[in-house]
Amino acid sequence: MNHLISPHLHKVILLHVSCKLIFGNQYSIICDLANNEFIRLPVQLTKDLFLNNHTYNSLIESELYDTIYLYDLFEKLIGKNYLNFYDDTLLSDFDINLLEPYSIVNCIIEFNIELIKYYPKVIRQLNKLQCRDIQLRFYSQVKLSQLISFLKLFNSSSIMNIDIILPYSHNVIDDISNHLTIINRVTRVIVFASDRNDVVQVKQISVMFVIQEIKNNKHCGFIHPNYFNSSFRNYTENINYNSCLNRKISIDYHGMIKNCPSLSNSFGNIKTTQLDDVLKNCHFTALWFINKDKIRICKDCEFRYICTDCRAYLSEPLDILSKPLKCGYDPYRGIWKDWKSLVECLDAINYYEL
Ligand code: SF4
Ligand code: SF4
Repeated sequence: MNHLISPHLHKVILLHVSCKLIFGNQYSIICDLANNEFIRLPVQLTKDLFLNNHTYNSLIESELYDTIYLYDLFEKLIGKNYLNFYDDTLLSDFDINLLEPYSIVNCIIEFNIELIKYYPKVIRQLNKLQCRDIQLRFYSQVKLSQLISFLKLFNSSSIMNIDIILPYSHNVIDDISNHLTIINRVTRVIVFASDRNDVVQVKQISVMFVIQEIKNNKHCGFIHPNYFNSSFRNYTENINYNSCLNRKISIDYHGMIKNCPSLSNSFGNIKTTQLDDVLKNCHFTALWFINKDKIRICKDCEFRYICTDCRAYLSEPLDILSKPLKCGYDPYRGIWKDWKSLVECLDAINYYEL
């Protein structure tokens, strides 16, 4: 008997306070908020482990599960510090209400050289709103001098992280090494239309090379386990709010102010409209409150509080509460498929001309 398990054979199994259970239709996950990890288990096993007052010994005696499987699972869960063994003492829970000062957390700007004179005003407004993260999208080549002078607008701003999406060029890595690394706020650059899929770290910047072409905002909204985030911050926000659009504002290529560039609804143009006036519009903020518990199918999915969301590309385009189109997961069977191959997605794929 493993020395980790043997002291706890007769003790009721409890989950560590920094771990949360999320139940789906067939599976559940133990979400480790402290280490941004999760483990997926069948629903009934999770209930037997944590909700039915079992001990390790009583589970073995029940003969509900294979002994070796249980032993390995316990070893894994104890090794990860997911379990607490107290005779009958419940641990106190923690407050999951996240308090943050930002009126806007992130902003997407689709760069358009013709709007360049309006961007300083936009960035001053974002600063006033204490915006924290920016994603700058360049769908076509941009001169290095233009990029640098644009990035300099963020000096002394509230922005802490700048993500840049730009097309591949022969000197892109030199430009990043020699010029972008000087700007501390730039933390990630996605280089599309590259000759390879690869990630390299250049000082503080994570540079992702992707073969895929990104010509417009239709290349957004993909749901994939690689994008899951089980951090405390993400989990607490996703329980109550939309995991993509909460406290997001976007400026599309034409300067239209939107929740996200891919959505058709706009709330004025940066030439004439102040961002803080848009935030007062309840139609703009309504999408922030569509959490996964309100979305059909997602509400039955074990990944719902660690998953991203998309309200721009929907499995049923006219139903704002339908599942994201670009998700191939079926929580009723617990399997992933390529969403593009699903018959039920065909109409929506045609609708959005994807
Ligand atoms: S709503 Fe969808 S398309 Fe818009 S930013 Fe979010 S994931 Fe992307
Ligand atoms: S069904 Fe919903 S919650 Fe589950 S993985 Fe897909 S988009 Fe995320």
